[in-house]
Amino acid sequence: MRSVFIFLGLFLLSFQQSKSQNTDYAREILNTICSENYQGRGYAAGGADKTADFIAKELRKIRLKKFGKSYFQPFTIKVNTFYGNNTVNINGKSLIPGIDYLISASSPSLKGTFNVEIIDAALINEPLKFKKFIRSDFSDKVILIDTFGLKRESFNDAYQLITERNILKAKAVIKITRRNLVYAPSQIQKKFPLIIIKKARLPKNPKTVTINIDSKYYSNFETKNIIAYIKGKTDTSIVISAHYDHLGTMGKNVYFPGANDNGSGVSALLVLAKHFSKQKKLKYNIVFMFFSGEELGLLGSYYYSQHPLFPLSNIKFLINLDMVGSGDKGIKVVNGSVFKEEFDELVKINTENNYMPAVKIRGKAANSDHYFFFENDVPSFFIYTTGTYKEYHNIFDTPENLPLSKFNELTYLLTDFINYLQNDKKPDIEESNISSF
Ligand SMILES: [Zn+2]
Repeated sequence: MRSVFIFLGLFLLSFQQSKSQNTDYAREILNTICSENYQGRGYAAGGADKTADFIAKELRKIRLKKFGKSYFQPFTIKVNTFYGNNTVNINGKSLIPGIDYLISASSPSLKGTFNVEIIDAALINEPLKFKKFIRSDFSDKVILIDTFGLKRESFNDAYQLITERNILKAKAVIKITRRNLVYAPSQIQKKFPLIIIKKARLPKNPKTVTINIDSKYYSNFETKNIIAYIKGKTDTSIVISAHYDHLGTMGKNVYFPGANDNGSGVSALLVLAKHFSKQKKLKYNIVFMFFSGEELGLLGSYYYSQHPLFPLSNIKFLINLDMVGSGDKGIKVVNGSVFKEEFDELVKINTENNYMPAVKIRGKAANSDHYFFFENDVPSFFIYTTGTYKEYHNIFDTPENLPLSKFNELTYLLTDFINYLQNDKKPDIEESNISSF
């Protein structure tokens, strides 16, 4: 009797293991590319390059083909970056980077201790006082602006001029926020540092601020897309894409792990690449594209759309994945209403197999790497998961926090959908005379 139970137990265990196999592989990948060693997969600190090497190594293991001699497609970007241990102290109390404050990625270097001048609702609500205030000399001071309790609309233009253009010509500007901190990289370096501090973490009566920012601007920094494929019987291709870059560091002491954004998409692509590399006799090529420069403004996918390695018109369908690490509420499909036939099929597959809790439709949107393909007439979806996970562009988007709750199911749904695209009865795209493969 007992042996029957042991046998049953082993059977269930092995079944469960195979059920979570894709998630386990994704965890392995995330634990690597979101680790400190990969420095938030930013550009200048070398994290993106390390990630590119890691992805290429995985692609080599599963024997994906290259266009030409390398998986890499290099291109250049402009980017402002931080070196050193950037620090911010208020009244001598040091704040915690990433938790108490962020330094805007466009900030130049600055070192020193400065007096703080406060602009708040009390000051703005007294027009005479405010008028006098803004006529002072701020050239050796730091402006701290907190508009809590103010009718924002009336002050909006002035707020923009002070925080975005430093119209008061201060040494630096500090913005107080009551929202979550959200970091974004920058293609430009401005003339003044901008620091965003959480209200709850701001010491009382801020009088002095000590700032240490060490920036470097690159006008011609080389990064690369990674392109690999599995050969099919025709020149037509199905493309699966995801960006692998993330926000990098905010100085030596802080990096952004980017587990959901977009370690999850990279993991899904590698799972699919592994799966389809074992499949014989594909009708269409399956091309995997890992883009860089997404976080700076879709730069890698834009570059690819301008320098395609085979005609864009040979792409039958593109599926872009960006932030697919949750899913307890399902997925959303950008361009679903544009390519309704394919969307309906995706819903049908999902309903028949009970994979995701919901497949929701969206119209077109310029919010990820599918966009420049779509603008160049490539039929495409951008799929992302929805759920309770909310960490976004902060230091908490880590593999430990990321649930991957429906990751297996998503990879199954995508596999079935790619098989549908492989087998559909629609006439083929007219083959070009020049074979790129
Ligand atoms: Zn992002």
